[in-house]
Amino acid sequence: MRLILFGPPGCGKGTQAELLCREFGIAHLSTGNMLRDAVSAGTEIGLRAQEIMEAGALVPDDAVVGIISDRFDQKDCGKGFVLDGFPRTVAQAESLDELLVEKRFELDRVIEIKVADELLIERISGRFSCSECGAGYHDRFRLPKRANTCDTCGGTGFTRRKDDNEMTVRQRLNSYHTQTEPLLPYYNNRGLLAPVDGMAKIEDVTAEIQEILSVR
Ligand code: AMP
Repeated sequence: MRLILFGPPGCGKGTQAELLCREFGIAHLSTGNMLRDAVSAGTEIGLRAQEIMEAGALVPDDAVVGIISDRFDQKDCGKGFVLDGFPRTVAQAESLDELLVEKRFELDRVIEIKVADELLIERISGRFSCSECGAGYHDRFRLPKRANTCDTCGGTGFTRRKDDNEMTVRQRLNSYHTQTEPLLPYYNNRGLLAPVDGMAKIEDVTAEIQEILSVR
């Protein structure tokens, strides 16, 4: 199974990607997570990306394409993968096509998770995650069952992304509408694109995606 998950920041791509990867035993390829790891590790790409990410703009195509190309060579991608947050520009989509031919991978589906902009700001502004295992939470929609304790690993430390504030979110949404949305026809013309309602409950979005995947 090889999928792309599309959608604006805060639409639930990461959550859905994790669920799908667990179900199908495939790799979760999130360029956002990989870039954040690079920033924390202080690598050359991380140093290049940090300011750009904090401003809510897009990191240069060559940097993210390089990251994905290396990642495709790792063993866990053999069974399949979910691309989360990549490609984000036409140039990235073209590079992805070349990589897929080179690695002999074929895409099964491209899922677009649709959510209205106003909802996204509210969703993103309340996000936080476990510092130990990365499990995601939200001030209003998904608090840990026990106060200040991660449901998944029991960790007690939590972090918030620096770019999860209203001003940066507006910039990230702008990047999505101007640079990423134009990719949708690119995949629609190939019959790969399927939209889902990202404003439904998490489990309903998952069910809708599973339904789409079952008919192919
Ligand atoms: P995300 O976690 O997917 O919301 O990504 C966080 C930030 O990482 C984005 O706002 C961009 O600055 C950067 N980023 C992630 N993926 C890409 C990509 N495919 N192309 C360019 N920048 C990216």
